[in-house]
Amino acid sequence: MPSRHNSSAQAGDEDLRENRAYSTATISQAFNDFLHLGKLDQKILRQYHEALLQGGDRFAKVFYDYLLAAPATAKVLDGYQAAGGKIENLVKRQLQHLWELLSGRIDDESARGLAHVGEVHYRHGIEPVWIMGAYLLYLNHLQTRIRTSPQIDDAHRPALEDSVTKLLFRDMGLQLEGYWDASLRDLEKEKDKVAELQEQITNLLSNIPQLLWSVDVINNRPLYVSPSAYEICQMDIDMPIPCLGWTVPEDRDTVMLAWQNALQGNKVEVESRVKQPDGGLRWFRRIFYPYTNAEKKVVRIDGLMEDTTEAKKMIDRLHTLATTDGLTGLPNRTLFNDRLIQAIAAASRHEKKQVVLMMMDLDRFKDINDTLGHPAGDRILVEVAQRLQSVLRDTDTLARLGGDEFAVLLPDVRDGRKTADKIVKKIMHGLGAPFMIGDNELYLELGIGVALYPEHGEDAALLMSRADVAMYGTKNRDVSYLYYDAALDPNTQQRLQLAGELRHAVAREEFTLHYQPKIDIETGLVTGAEALIRWNHPDRGLIPPDQFIPLAERTGMIRPITYWVIESATQQCQTWREAGWPLRVAVNISGRAFQDPAFVGHIESILQKNKVPAKCLEIEITENILLADIEHVSPILEKINRLGIHIAIDDFGTGYSSLAYLKKLPLHTLKIDKSFVLDMVKDENDAVIVRSTIDLAHNLGYQVIAEGIESKDTLDLLRTLGCDGGQGFYISHPLPSEHFVQWLKNSPQA
Ligand code: C2E
Ligand code: CA
Ligand code: CA
Repeated sequence: MPSRHNSSAQAGDEDLRENRAYSTATISQAFNDFLHLGKLDQKILRQYHEALLQGGDRFAKVFYDYLLAAPATAKVLDGYQAAGGKIENLVKRQLQHLWELLSGRIDDESARGLAHVGEVHYRHGIEPVWIMGAYLLYLNHLQTRIRTSPQIDDAHRPALEDSVTKLLFRDMGLQLEGYWDASLRDLEKEKDKVAELQEQITNLLSNIPQLLWSVDVINNRPLYVSPSAYEICQMDIDMPIPCLGWTVPEDRDTVMLAWQNALQGNKVEVESRVKQPDGGLRWFRRIFYPYTNAEKKVVRIDGLMEDTTEAKKMIDRLHTLATTDGLTGLPNRTLFNDRLIQAIAAASRHEKKQVVLMMMDLDRFKDINDTLGHPAGDRILVEVAQRLQSVLRDTDTLARLGGDEFAVLLPDVRDGRKTADKIVKKIMHGLGAPFMIGDNELYLELGIGVALYPEHGEDAALLMSRADVAMYGTKNRDVSYLYYDAALDPNTQQRLQLAGELRHAVAREEFTLHYQPKIDIETGLVTGAEALIRWNHPDRGLIPPDQFIPLAERTGMIRPITYWVIESATQQCQTWREAGWPLRVAVNISGRAFQDPAFVGHIESILQKNKVPAKCLEIEITENILLADIEHVSPILEKINRLGIHIAIDDFGTGYSSLAYLKKLPLHTLKIDKSFVLDMVKDENDAVIVRSTIDLAHNLGYQVIAEGIESKDTLDLLRTLGCDGGQGFYISHPLPSEHFVQWLKNSPQA
C-alpha cells in the first residue's frame, strides 16, 4: 500500500488485470482463438482486398453524415471541429482504417493499435454504444459489397462474409478492450487519489490531539471514530456517548445532560474527567454538534473531544495568580472582595446575621523597609500574615490587600461588635510579641478599622471604604482600632456638618464633662475621677466622645478642646477640694495635643491660674503616643513629671509596648484596658493577661488600675490579684458634676 501514491498508470493497469484471465500481452491471441481467426481468413481477405475496398471513400463520407445526424455524436464532432479538427481528415483516417481492417492483420501489434484507438475514443468521450453503431455500418457496407461485387467468386461469398464478420468483431472487441482498460486506469488513478487523501486524513487525525467521531443517533451506532480515540476508550462500548464509561461517575450526569441537550438540536460543550488507560485522570472537553435532517430531526451527532488538562491547569494557575498574594500566599484584594460579596449575600438571607470586615495596616512600615531593607520587610510581612492567620478560624478570610495592608473577613457572626472586639484583642496580642530581625527586636504597631454589615453598609464596596475610613481614623487617634463612624468619615455630609459645628462648640460652651470615680480596690475609697467629655449638641443631644474626638483630631480642634477640658477639670478639682474632697482628676490627652510645643507651658499656666497643685492632675495617654516618637515624647514627659503631674498609660494591652520599654519613662500608673477586664471572670486568657500585667507593673514600681469593672465578681477577682485601683460601671457610670458630688456623699468616704 505505501507505494500506492507513486504507482504509475501501468502498474494500476496490472493491478486491475490481476483478476482477469488475459493480460494485455495475451489478449490478441485470445481474440484470434475465440474467433477462430487464422491463415485461411487472411488468405481470402488478401484475394478480395481490392474488391472490398471499392466504394470505401463514399462509405466513409456516409459514415460521417450518419454520425453528424445523431445529436450526441454530432456534439462530439462539433467539439472536434471547434478545436481545429477537420472532418475530411477523419474521413481519410476512416478510409485508412477500412483499408487496414481488410488487409487481414491479426498480429499483436495491430491489436495494440486497435486498443489504442479505443483509448483515444474513450479520452474523447465517445460512448461504446456509438462504436457498436459504427461497426454495424461497416458490417452493412461490407456485406453489401460481398453479396453484390461481381469481382467476387460466388462460391467464396459465404467464407468471405464469415471472415469479414470475424475481423469486424476482433476490431470492435479490441477497441472496446482499449476503451475498457483506459477507463480502468482512470478509475485506478481515482482510487489512488482517494486512498492518498484518506491516508492523509488518517494521518492528520491521529496526529492532532482532538478526537473526532460521529454517531447515528437513530440507530445508536458509531459512523466514524478517529483513530486516536481508540487509545482512550472503546467507542462502541460507550455508545451513544463516546467514552462515557471512562468518565468519572461524578461527572457522568453532566455529560448525559449535555447529550440530551444536543439531542434537542443544541450545540453543547461539556467538561469532565476521563480515566486514562494508564489509570490517570485527565480533563476532557466534549463538544456535541447535532446534525438535523430535512424534517429538522436530529439524526446524527458529530463530536469533538479534547484534552483540556493543561489548559485547565493553566487557568487554575492564572486564577491562583490573580487571586493570591505572591509573598504571603494569602488571598488578594480580588478574592477578598469576592468572599465579602458572598458573605454579605449569605448574611442578607438571615435577619440576625452580621459580617465583620476589618482593615488594618502596619504603622511606619515604610521605615522598616528603608532601614532594614526590603527582604527584611518581606520576612516581617510573611510573619505578620502567619500570626494573623493563627488567631483566625478556618472560615474567616485573611487577605493581603497590598503593601502593609491586610484585611480580615468574619462571615456569619451574631454579635458583630463583641466578636470583632475579641478578634482584635487576639490580633493585638498575636502581634504584640517582638519580631526578630537578626539581633533586632522589632515591635510593630497597627491600626485596625472595623465595619459591620449591615450596620455600616449593605454592599461590599461601601463596607470596604468604611473600614478604610475607620482604619485611617486610628492614625489620628492613638487608638489601635476603631469602628466606622460617620464622624470619622471625610466623605459624609454628616461629618462635614459636624466639623463645621465643632468649630463653634468651644465658644458656645456646648461641651460638658462627666466624671467617673476611681477607687482604691483594697479600701473602697475614692481616689480620684476621670473627666470624660460629652458634646451637648443643640439638635442631636449628648454626643459621646468617640463620635467627635477623631474629627476634632483631624481638624485641629483637638487643641482648644483639650485646653478647655484641662481648664474645666482643674476648676472642678479645685471646687471639690474646697468642699473637702481632695481628689485627683484625670484627663485624656490625645497625641495631636501632645505634639503642641506649648503643651507643658499651657498646663502649667492653667494650674497656676486656678491655684491647683500639680499633684491633683493626672494625664491619661495611650501607649501609641509614647511609641510614635519616643525621642520627642520622652523629654515632654520628663517636664510634666517634674511639675508633679501624674502620668497614666491608658488602654494598656491594646498597643505594642513592652513593659521593659516603658520602664525608661516617668510613668505612675498603668490602666489595664477594659477589653481584658470586662470578661476576665469568664475568660481564662483575659484573667491571665490581667494577672501578669499587674505582677509585671508592680515589679517595675507602677500602680495598676483596671477600667471596665462591671460586676462585683470582677472587682473581687481584681482585689485577689492585687490590683490597686478600679473604675467601671459597677462602681459608677461617668456622672455630670452635680450628680458626682451626690454620689460622693453616699460613698464610703463620706
Ligand atoms: P477611655 O479613656 O478608655 O475612657 C473610658 C471609657 O470607658 C468611657 O467611655 C467610659 O464611659 C467607659 N467605661 C467606663 N466604665 C465602663 C464599664 O464598666 N464598662 C464599659 N463598657 N465601659 C466603661 P466614653 O466616655 O464614651 O469615652 C470614650 C473614649 O473617648 C475614652 O476612652 C477616651 O479615649 C475618649 N475621650 C473621652 N473624653 C476625652 C477627652 O476629654 N479628651 C480626649 N482626647 N479623649 C477623650
Ligand atoms: Ca481614659
Ligand atoms: Ca481606657
